[in-house]
Formats: sequence, structure tokens, C-alpha cells
Amino acid sequence: MLPPKIIEQRHNGMELLNLSLTELEEAAKALGEPKYRARQLFDWLYKGVTDFDDMKNLPASLREKFKENFEISSPVITKEQVSKEDGTRKFLLEYSDGIAIETVFMKYKYGNTLCVSSQAGCRMGCKFCASTVNGLSRNLTSGEMVAEILTVENRMREDLNNGSRSEKDWRIGHVVGMGTGEPFDNYENVSKFINLIHDPNGLNISMRNITVSTCGLVPLIDRFGDDFPQVNLAISLHGTTDEIRSSMMPINNRYPIKELIEAAKTYTEKTNRRITFEYTMVNGVNDSDEDAIRLIKLLRGMLCHVNIIPLNNVEGSGFDTVSRKRAGEFAEILEKAGLPVTVRRELGRDIDAACGQLRLKS
Ligand code: SAH
Repeated sequence: MLPPKIIEQRHNGMELLNLSLTELEEAAKALGEPKYRARQLFDWLYKGVTDFDDMKNLPASLREKFKENFEISSPVITKEQVSKEDGTRKFLLEYSDGIAIETVFMKYKYGNTLCVSSQAGCRMGCKFCASTVNGLSRNLTSGEMVAEILTVENRMREDLNNGSRSEKDWRIGHVVGMGTGEPFDNYENVSKFINLIHDPNGLNISMRNITVSTCGLVPLIDRFGDDFPQVNLAISLHGTTDEIRSSMMPINNRYPIKELIEAAKTYTEKTNRRITFEYTMVNGVNDSDEDAIRLIKLLRGMLCHVNIIPLNNVEGSGFDTVSRKRAGEFAEILEKAGLPVTVRRELGRDIDAACGQLRLKS
């Protein structure tokens, strides 16, 4: 695999959302300002404030100084789609260099969840996925990922059509790294992002409320288990033989099923945490009874859970989804064998909430 083509966004000043509180204190110190000023700035940032002039407890002269030296990533919402069925909202966000990414706000019983993008585009090439169609434009910085959360929270807060405007309507308490991009192909920035949103002085999102999904970059699964033993890991499996999986996911040529399953086992032994295996079901490709039986054999005895996702059809991919009924039958085979399984509830079906589809259309 080629090294990632990293084209970071250019900034005039230092991007504040990339900084931990300690780093922000350092940055303030470099400008001759005391620690508590950094703390005040940090508070404003995580309240979603993007304009230094709105930081009321800072003297005007200091706001000017900060303006000259710092920047705050504030992507613009260029599209917003709201599902009439379940309130899922999909946003297209544009950053200052013009790249666009998607992020999806979902309401669950346990709280609001944001599906965060980690890259603009993706170079993993999964054949059924819309995010990969035009390849990778660039990695997102940690601050740009943080900005996804803050921008959506701001938007939800200002929305008067919310009915009630209590915190539970806008606060994002759960994050899933299942938007555009392969999180482990941007490992450093994603790691930093996790630590930033976990900071109790800022968003205070619990590690256990964060899930990262990978197409199976084996060496990084291992590292992730060491670095973030409390964060949830999801692995996109989708195929039970190398032939099938490679036909859907080119990454399987690099890290075949055997290596992937070994890495997953090591991970669960090390962390004692349940892995979610995602299984996107495609008609005539991976949906037979034999597939189900092979899946049982592969995962038998492992601390895991299978999440079946009926394919969201992507125009021109040549892959076709399965019926809800077939997904249910497939799940039943797994269940009878004692494998924990769920069929993903389709949120935002009426707004094309599937990966990358909004971005692709624009
Ligand atoms: N790069 C990460 C995150 C991708 S999105 C990964 O590969 O895991 C999260 C899940 O949605 C992955 O399992 C991905 O394979 C799946 N997915 C992508 N496109 C899809 C589609 N059109 N229909 C159903 N699932 C899809």
C-alpha cells in the first residue's frame, strides 16, 4: 500500500481545535498570556463559539491578539437533509479550502450520536461504498473532526423547529467513526480527536461512547487495542472467504481474513472488549446459508457481535441489496448458533443516509 497522500489544510494562524488544553496553555504562554486565559479560550471553543468577538470575558485587546495568531475551524453547512421518518439529519460540511465531508446526526434512546468522517474521500476502494468513488482528497485534522461535532451541536441548538430546546435535543454524547474515510488510514489525527473529545474540560465524551470502524488495517487494530482499550471497535467483515471478501474489499488482498480474525482475537483477549463485526449484505454475493455457516465458524468462541447491514444501493456499483426478510433469515441462522446478532435499523432511509451518498451527489 502506498503511504497516505497527506495534504493538510493550510492555515494562516494556529488551528485551536487541534490543541489539547495543555497545548493551548503553551500557545497562550508563547504569546505572553497566563494559563487561565487558555482555559477561558478552551471553554469558549467547546461551547461552539467560533468568533473571538463572542468571547465576552476576554478583553478586547486580547481578542485582537488571539485573532491575529489563532484560527478556529468552522466549516459551513452547505446542505442539510432531515429525515421525516426518524429525525436523522445529514449534513454536508465545507471547510475553508473547499473540501466537503458528510456527517450524520442520529437520535437513539440512549442519546444523540454523530457519525463522523475522518477523511475527505477514501482510498480503500470498497466496491459497494460511495465514499471511495473519487478516491482520497485529504485527511481531516483532529480539529476538523472536532468541528463536525461543534458545528452540528450549534446547528441543532439554533433550530427553532426542534420543539423543545433542552440539552437532550442537541447534545452529542456518542460518536461513531463510520462516516467518510478509513479512520485507521488517518490514525494519528483520529487518535488525537478521540483524546480531544474525551477531555472532561471540553466535550467530556466517554471512551465507551466512542466507536471506531475499520475495513481491517491489521497492524493498527493491534495498536488501537493498546492505545484505546476502552473505545469500541467495529470491523467491516462482509465476506467469509478471501475470494468473496476481496471481490468487495481490495484491502483483503493485503490483510486476508485469517490475519484479520487473528488480530481481532488478540484484540479481544487484550482488551476484554466485544468487537462488532459489520456484515453488509449483498444479494447473491454474501447472503447464502453457506455464508452464514462460514461466518459462524469464523467467529465461534470470540467475544463479538455481528451487525448485519442490508446494502444501501449505490448507483453504478453493480451491487444490489437484499430484502429485509433475507437479512432476518440470515440473522436467525447466526442466532441459533449462539452468535449475538442484530440487523441494523435503517435510520434516515428517506435521505440517503448511507455513506458518502450526499457528498457524491454534490
Ligand atoms: N472505513 C470504515 C468506516 C466505513 S463506514 C470501515 O470500512 O469500516 C461504516 C460501514 O458501512 C462499513 O462497514 C462499510 O463497509 C459500510 N458501508 C459502506 N457503504 C455501504 C453501503 N452502500 N451499504 C451498506 N453499508 C455500507
